[in-house]
This record gives sequence, C-alpha cells and structure tokens, in this order.
Amino acid sequence: MVLRVALVSEHASPLAAIGAVDAGGQNVHVAELASGLTRLGHEVVVYTRRDDPDLPATVRTDDAYDVVHLDAGPPRRVPKDALWPLMPAFADALRAHLRAHRPDVVHAHFWMSGWAATRAARRLRIPTFVTFHALGSVKRRHQGSADTSPPERVDVEVAVAERATGVIATCRDEVAELAALGVDLDGVDVVPCGVDVRHFTTGAAPLDHPPRREPHRIVSVGRLVPRKGYATIVEALVDLPGVELVVAGGHADGTVEAEQVRLETLAADLGVADRVHFVGQVGHFLMPALLCTADVVVCSPWYEPFGLVPLEAMACGVPVVASAVGGMLDSVADGETGLLVPPQDPQALAAAVGGLLADPARRAAYGRAGVRRARSQFSWDAVAAATAEVYARAHDRSSTAAGTPAAGTAAGRLPALGPA
Ligand code: UDP
Repeated sequence: MVLRVALVSEHASPLAAIGAVDAGGQNVHVAELASGLTRLGHEVVVYTRRDDPDLPATVRTDDAYDVVHLDAGPPRRVPKDALWPLMPAFADALRAHLRAHRPDVVHAHFWMSGWAATRAARRLRIPTFVTFHALGSVKRRHQGSADTSPPERVDVEVAVAERATGVIATCRDEVAELAALGVDLDGVDVVPCGVDVRHFTTGAAPLDHPPRREPHRIVSVGRLVPRKGYATIVEALVDLPGVELVVAGGHADGTVEAEQVRLETLAADLGVADRVHFVGQVGHFLMPALLCTADVVVCSPWYEPFGLVPLEAMACGVPVVASAVGGMLDSVADGETGLLVPPQDPQALAAAVGGLLADPARRAAYGRAGVRRARSQFSWDAVAAATAEVYARAHDRSSTAAGTPAAGTAAGRLPALGPA
C-alpha cells in the first residue's frame, strides 16, 4: 500500500546544515526518514517553517520528496525556544495544506510540531503521530534554571501524547519517561533512530585535518552545547596522556560558540589545551572520514534522547564509549560494541577509554561487532519500514472504523493548551 505521508518538523529542516546549536539529529532523522519512506514507494512531504526569505515555497529534493516552507513569523532563523508563539500561525498554514492535499498520515517531530499537527489535523480524520526527539521533563531535570524551553512545554507534551493517534518513541528509556508522565503506553510504539549504512562504512578515506599529533585520538561530535558533556572528556584527558581530542560541531560560518570558549578555558586550566582541537562544523558528508580517524568515539552527554553519533561510529567500525543514558542504552551494546559509563564522571570515562586504548584487539572486535549491529538493526531502511508499519496499522484502523473518527483528530479533541 502506498501511503501519502506528511512529516512536520517546525524548526528542523531536512535541508539545513547540521552541527549548529539548533540543527542536529532531528534534521538528520527527518531527512533520512523521508528518504527511506520514499525508497519504499511512499509519497512524502516535509513541512517546516520558512526561516529564510529566499527559500522557494516547495523544494523537490534529490531523494524525491518535497519540502514545503510554511510562513509563520519572521522569515529568518528564530531560536527554537522562541518559536512557541509562532505555532498558531504555523498550524493554520499547515491545516490549509493538509486540507488541500489530504495525506493518509501525519507524523510530527518535536513537541511544537506535535501541537501544531494535532491542531491542524483536527476534523480531517487523518491519523497523527508524534516523535518527541527530546522530552521537556528530562531537559528540565538536567538543565534546571538554564532550561530556556517555554514553561508550558511539559504539559503540552502530555496533551499532545494523549491527543495524537500514537507516539513513536525512539528508545525504551523514553517509554519509561512517558510512563512517568502518566501517558497511556497503549498508544506508544518504539522505533529507533537509524544510520545511513551506505554512507557510514569502514571504507572512508580518513580526513587528514587536523593532523594527528598524539599516539591516540578520541573524536567527539555534536552541537556545541554544555549538555553534550565535552567538558567531561576534557577533564578525562588529564588521566589519558598521549591522547588527543578532536571535537566537531558548531556554526557553518565558523562563528566561535560560547561553549567552545568555555571548553578552551577549561582545557588551559587543566594543562591539556595542546591536546584539544576544535574543527568546527564538519559537513555531514565528511563525517565518516572524520570518525574513522578515531581510536575511540566518545559520546559523553549528561542525557541523550537517542544520539545518532554512536550509531554512525559503530557503522564505521569504531568502538564507542558513551554515557549510560537515553537511547545509548539501546544502541551501544556494553562490552560488545563499546562501553557505557556513568555521565559526568571523568574518572570512569578515563578508565574506560584508557582500557580500550591499551587493548587493540578488543578495539578491533568492538569495531567489527558495531558494524554488524548497525547494519542489522539500525539501517534507515529498517527504521523507515518499521515506521511505515505503524502508519499502515493506523491507516487501516481509521479507514475501517466507519463513523469513528481517528484518535486525536476528532472534533472536540483539540489540545487545550496553546501559546498565550
Ligand atoms: N553532525 C554533523 N556535523 C557536525 C556535527 C554534527 O554532520 O559538525 C551530525 C552528526 O553526524 C549526527 C547529528 O549531527 O548525525 C547529531 O545527532 P545526535 O543525535 O548525535 O545529536 P543531537 O544534535 O540530535 O543532539
């Protein structure tokens, strides 16, 4: 059955450059899911907010899905935590498209898209799913007063989870968090994030920049924000002589992020500055070439909704040392493809990395097992197929349940909460 699928991702466009503060795994996820669904024969349109006046209304991608830029608020980049007041306009623009094009299923990404999609799809009887990517309750727990999310985020997430046809969570830890929020788990499916196993392979030609200056290298990749925990790696370097750290992430235009300045100061204070290299944003296309220069890829966030980088490293045959949190509890097989360590614990991280660096045979075995695991369980083709199954079940239910409106789309089930 060919499904017409509307993916909604208000801030994370599949066309954006990856690595800046608000552009990371969600952008990759939406792009790869759209491509994977298209390869399976489904017709996909991605709806995102126009954040540049020069963007065409619709872009046909090389992967044969469309990206539609909806007008909502100023046509320039707005930090994602300031987008909430723009969501009614985004929902109105989305509704006009859904009414005209009548997709079979809507799949929203992130809480604000979930709110807009459940609002836009009401009365249209279109099954509507949400993948949160990150939960406000988890973010608040870890970031406390530094959390710049709108205060109503957690309540909106619960309302969206209840009013959508279903939640597509990405890992078991997220299901536990949803249960703790009181969400009915009957409507929750788990489909992990994936990795492009055609691109992330063991065969990449290694990047020669920056040149290796130490016997061993750790690579760490992601948005340059404190919660990614690069500081823990910098602190661990004190106990890891002969090891250099290469950090990739940041703005495309080379603007130095505040987090980089903070980390450079920390490295200087600890006497390890000559072993820490920031290479800025690395084009996603070049990521395998960077990852394969590493003896170990370290992902040491405080918390992590899923985490694509461990999968990318595994697919490239590189062992991973990761915080034992979130999706990495599912993706990294502890003692098989890498090691899981407590977050924010430099001593534990140094012991795990140091042990692996001293044991080339174990590194090679973890690398081989990582490739097998990534290819067998986490290809985007497998992820797209599992997601399409969830859609198809709901589509069948909504087309056979004559007279019974699809959950979350019925008149009168509009999320009560909205921007002031
Ligand atoms: N990434 C990239 N270039 C960079 C930094 C990151 O291509 O300079 C990509 C990385 O390869 C991964 C994504 O951005 O695909 C980050 O996803 P992850 O889930 O690890 O973190 P998030 O950004 O979602 O918190």
